[in-house]
Amino acid sequence: MSLNRQQVMHDVLGRKPKPPTRPNNKISSYYGENVFNQFVMRSYLPDEAFKDILKSIEDGSPVDRKVADQTATAMKEWAISRGATHYTHWFQPLTGNTAEKHDSFIAPTGDGRVIEKFDGSLLVQQEPDASSFPSGGIRNTFEARGYTLWDPASPAFIWGETLCIPTIFISYTGFALDNKTPLLKALSAVDSAATAVCQYFDKNINKVNASLGWEQEYFLVDKALFAARPDLAMTGRALFGAQPAKGQQLDDHYFGSIPQRISAFMKDFELEAHKLGIPVTTRHNEVAPNQFELAPVYEETNLANDHNLLLMELLKVVAQRHDFRCLLHEKPFGGLNGSGKHNNWSLSTNTGVNLLQPGKNPKSNMRFLTFFVNTLAALHTYADIVRASFAGVGNDHRLGAQEAPPAIISAFIGSQLTQLLDDLEVHIKHGKLTPADKTALKLEIGRIPEALLDNTDRNRTSPFAFTGNKFELRAVGSSANCALPMMVLNTIVADQLKKFKTSVDRRIKSGDGKDESILKELQVLIKESKNIRFEGNGYGDTWIKEAKRRGLSNLKTTPEALTVWGRKEVIDLFDRMKVLHPAETDARQKVEFEKYVMHRQIEANIIIDMARNTILPAAISYQNILLENILGIEEAFGKDAKNMTVPQRDILKRTSALVNELYSTLSKLKESKEVVNNKKSTQKKADGYSSIITPIISDLGEICTALEGLIDNELWPLPKFQELLFTH
Ligand code: ADP
Ligand code: MG
Repeated sequence: MSLNRQQVMHDVLGRKPKPPTRPNNKISSYYGENVFNQFVMRSYLPDEAFKDILKSIEDGSPVDRKVADQTATAMKEWAISRGATHYTHWFQPLTGNTAEKHDSFIAPTGDGRVIEKFDGSLLVQQEPDASSFPSGGIRNTFEARGYTLWDPASPAFIWGETLCIPTIFISYTGFALDNKTPLLKALSAVDSAATAVCQYFDKNINKVNASLGWEQEYFLVDKALFAARPDLAMTGRALFGAQPAKGQQLDDHYFGSIPQRISAFMKDFELEAHKLGIPVTTRHNEVAPNQFELAPVYEETNLANDHNLLLMELLKVVAQRHDFRCLLHEKPFGGLNGSGKHNNWSLSTNTGVNLLQPGKNPKSNMRFLTFFVNTLAALHTYADIVRASFAGVGNDHRLGAQEAPPAIISAFIGSQLTQLLDDLEVHIKHGKLTPADKTALKLEIGRIPEALLDNTDRNRTSPFAFTGNKFELRAVGSSANCALPMMVLNTIVADQLKKFKTSVDRRIKSGDGKDESILKELQVLIKESKNIRFEGNGYGDTWIKEAKRRGLSNLKTTPEALTVWGRKEVIDLFDRMKVLHPAETDARQKVEFEKYVMHRQIEANIIIDMARNTILPAAISYQNILLENILGIEEAFGKDAKNMTVPQRDILKRTSALVNELYSTLSKLKESKEVVNNKKSTQKKADGYSSIITPIISDLGEICTALEGLIDNELWPLPKFQELLFTH
C-alpha cells in the first residue's frame, strides 16, 4: 500500500498537542525514581556490601560473589516494587545501538507455582548469542558465545517493565565486542596517566575522572509524513526534495518559541529523562526548521555516555507517543543544517579540581597549562585518529558543508591563550633558564586568569575548541555513540601525559628543578604542536589551502578516514595503552567499513525503488495529462491551437527530458552497483560506494528534485520538505 500524500496531510493537520503528563510537583520529587542509584542502594544494602560496591565503582575492582548476590536481591526487590517483571543486560554492540534481551524474574518451584528469582550470577554475567552482532572477524562462527559482564559504575534502571543492567560485551576469548569496554579502559588509562602528572602539583590527587557533557541535536517529523517517505523511514534521510520556500534564511527558528505540539513532547520527554536520572537541563530550537537541541549537566564519561545512548532511545519512544518520529541522522534534509553532538570534555580530580580550569595562583596555572598544552600536543600527534573516531556515513554529508567543521582537525584556543603560548615559545632557551627568564615566564603564567576573563570569543567553525574550562569536540555526529570519540580522546591524552611525565622526570634527574623541567617540556610541546592551532574561519576555502600547506590531513570521506585504524602507529598506540588489542582495532575497522557499505547499499536500493516505482509513474501520468490537454486543444481549435499549447509543450518536453535522464541514471546506478558489489574486499567496496555510487545517488536525487518542481502538486506522491518541516 502506498500512502496518499493529500490524505496524510489531512491527518497531520488534524492533530492536537497531547496534554502534558508532567505531575504538578517539583522535579526533585521524582528525579531518578527509575534508577537503582547510590541513594536507593544505601537503603536496600547492608553497610558492608554498600561500601564494597562503592569501592568497585571507584576503582573498578571486581565485586565479590556474596556482595553481588546481596545487590541482585536488593535490585530485584526494588525493581519489583516499581512494577518490573523482567530484567536484561543492556549493552552496546558495534552496531552503534544498544541491545537487550529480556528475561523474566520467574523461576518454577516444581509444584506448579513460580517465585521471583534473581541472583548474583545472573547480575554479574550473562551469555547472549553473539552471532547476530558484528564482530569484525573476532568471533569464529563455531565460538559464537559472547559474555555480558555487569558494569557497577553505571547504575541499573527501569525501562518500561524491565530492569536494565548496563554491561560490557566481550567474546569467549575475552576480546571486546562493544563500545563500552575500550571506553572504560581508556578512562582508566587517562586516570592513571593524569594522576601521575598531578603528583607534581598536589600529592592528594589519587583519581582523575574524564567528564563528558554532550549536546544532542535532532529533528522531529510527523509520523504519518515520515511513513510516506520511504527514504526517511529506511535510511534516516530524505534522498531528494525541493527546498522549502522558507528555509533557515530568516534565522527565525533558532532559539525561537517552541510550537505547542513540540513543547508537549519536550515536557513529556524531560519527565522520562529525569525519572531515569539523566540531568537534562537545556532545550531550544536549532537553526533548521523542526530541529532542536538538548543538553544535560555534564557527568563522568562512562555514565554520561550511557545516558546519551539511553536518551537517544527515549527520544524515539516519546516522539512516537506524540505522533512524531525523531530523526537522529546527521543530514536528514539536503540544503538545511544537519545535526551534530558536541562532546564537551574535561578532566577533574578527586580533590574537586577541573584540570582544564585556570587557577588563582601561578602553581595552579602551571597545572592548567600542563594539561592544556598536553591536550593540544596529543591532538597534534594523533589528529587523524581523532578524525577517524567521528567518521560515519551520515557525518560525511555534514562535515565541511558550511554548517559543521571540515574534516581537517585543528584546535581553537582564543586570542589570549594563543598570545600566551606564543610568548612562552619565545622563551625557549637551551641550557639553564636565567633568573630573568624565570621571572618572565612566571609573569606570563600569572596572566592566565585575567586572560581567560577576556576570552569570550568563540569560534563555532573549529572542530576542537577550548571554551574556558573544557574542550569541545564539535565534529561528532548526532547519531554517534560518543564512546568511540571519547575512547580515542582519552587514550591519546593518556599517551601524551605518560610521555610528558617521562620527559619531565628525565629533566629533573639531570638536575633541573621541577618547575623548570615542566616549563621547558611544555615549551617544547607548544612549539611542536603549533600547526594544530587555528583561530580563523574553519569553513573557509583559504583554511583548506592553509591546512594543506601545514601538512594537516583532510580525510573527507568515511572510507578515507577509516584507513587510519590500519596504521601501525595507531595499532601500537591502542595496544601500548591497553585499550584495544591489535585484533580488536582491526575488527573495529572491518565493522566500520561494513557498516558504511551497508548504509550506502540501502540508500541505493531505496532510491532505485522510489525513482522507478513512485516518481517515474507520477511523471508519466503528468505527461499523459499534458498530452491529452494538447491533443484536445488541437482538436477543438485546429490551426489556432499552436499558440495555445506553448506552455504545455514546454513542460511536456522538460518532463520528458527528465524522465529520460532518470531512466538512464537508474540503469547506470544498477550497473555500477553490480561492479562495486563484486569487489573483493569490504574496504574496496566502501571506496566504490563512496566514489562511484554516492555521486550517482545524488545525481538521481537531483533529477527527482527537478521533477518535483515540475509535476502537478496534486499528482506528486511524496510529502515535500515544506510539509515535513513546517507541519506540527
Ligand atoms: P554551548 O556549547 O551551546 O555554548 P555550554 O557552554 O552551555 O553550551 O555547555 C555545553 C555543555 O558543556 C553542557 O552540556 C555542559 O554540561 C558541558 N560542560 C560544562 N562544563 C563542563 C566540563 N567541565 N566538562 C565537560 N562538560 C562540561
Ligand atoms: Mg556546544
